[in-house]
Amino acid sequence: MIRILNYIFIVASLVIASVWLSNQPGTVDISWLGFQINTSVPVLLIVLLVVFWASTLPLRFVKTVAKVPASVKETINEVSEARQERLKGNGYTCLIKGIAAIAAKDTDAVPLLKKAASLLKDKKLTQVLLAQSSELVKNTEEAKAQYEMLLRYPETELAAMYGLVKIAKASGDDSKALQMTIKAFSLRPNVAWISKELFNLQVKAGLMNDALKTLEIYKKENELNENRYIRLKTTILTAMHDKAIKAGEAEKAEKYIREASSTDIMFVPSTTRLAKIENEAGKTKKAVAPLVKVWKEKPHPEIAKTFLGLWEDESEFLLVQRAEQLAMVNKKQPESHLMVAKMAMKAKLWGQARKELDLFLVNRETTKEVAYMNAEFEEKGNQDIPKAISWFREAENCEPNETWLCNECNTRHDKWSATCPSCKAFASFKWSAKEGSLVEDETYLS
Ligand SMILES: [Zn+2]
Repeated sequence: MIRILNYIFIVASLVIASVWLSNQPGTVDISWLGFQINTSVPVLLIVLLVVFWASTLPLRFVKTVAKVPASVKETINEVSEARQERLKGNGYTCLIKGIAAIAAKDTDAVPLLKKAASLLKDKKLTQVLLAQSSELVKNTEEAKAQYEMLLRYPETELAAMYGLVKIAKASGDDSKALQMTIKAFSLRPNVAWISKELFNLQVKAGLMNDALKTLEIYKKENELNENRYIRLKTTILTAMHDKAIKAGEAEKAEKYIREASSTDIMFVPSTTRLAKIENEAGKTKKAVAPLVKVWKEKPHPEIAKTFLGLWEDESEFLLVQRAEQLAMVNKKQPESHLMVAKMAMKAKLWGQARKELDLFLVNRETTKEVAYMNAEFEEKGNQDIPKAISWFREAENCEPNETWLCNECNTRHDKWSATCPSCKAFASFKWSAKEGSLVEDETYLS
């Protein structure tokens, strides 16, 4: 009833207002912003009323929505949520397919992950995978861009650094890779790949002091095999010694090689270097002690060479006696017989040379070196030329001599060095005649 009365009142008011307006003639001139409007007052009032009514529309709409019953709102929400869930489901399906495609090295991974990224709210996971899939299809720039974006989030920072280090290394930018690895190491020194990568990059860059520090942390944090740790440490220290010698820094060089020798006296390259330093300082007894100790357990031709080199001015006859003294500490070793045989041949003590060569051959196959020694013996000691020629021929079929052999590129080298001159691998030398792989604990951090 009240509504009807309201309605009659509004209609009556409008009629009265219309009649009154039609009885009020007059015009309005408006000149504004270059517009010229000329109209009657009633028309202007009607226009103003319409504009006012239109301006209240948004508010009326909000009020109308607010008045929508709860059940309708619930239905609308349910429809919206169902849509979101459907999109999320599609997003995860694309994600799973994308992961499977990465595992299968399928290049479809990229479009699938791009679609997943567009459907899922959390972009980080899809970005990590998208970066990996971009690497898969060799789209380095895309992978780099994705990893750089992931650097911004603490939870994906490390994965991003791993990817960027890999990309930098693949493009030959070791300096960038090192820079990124140092940053990663400052965040998480206990993560194995980081300290391992940092060590290898520092070694490659010749930053041996830094590499040594990294090695210590790596060992502490990652339970590095003790043999491998010792091998790496002695190799680094010996490399540092060699570098210091080249730079004319004798004091530093001595410090490094002493540390190498005290870490592992059985490491032939450092023990022989230390013996030379002691001998040059006039401390022959100190030079002899570690060489004898090593010969006792690990007779190595370079130990014999360094030992006999301590008396290089002595006569060949006296040097045979020196060789015999060293051989006494490890009599049964074929290497001991070979060392004395070599010195006896130099001193032209043919009888002794023959005896020692025969003792060597009791437990060893004839190597090229021994075949040539036999040939020399037959030629010079026995004057049996046909037999000498026969040994020369035999030598061609014999096993090669032991030498420093690079485990990475299988090249043979006369001198030990920390970094292989052929392939630049670090700590890859072994004393061997045969090509093949090193035992695991002798390789470097790989
Ligand atoms: Zn090599």
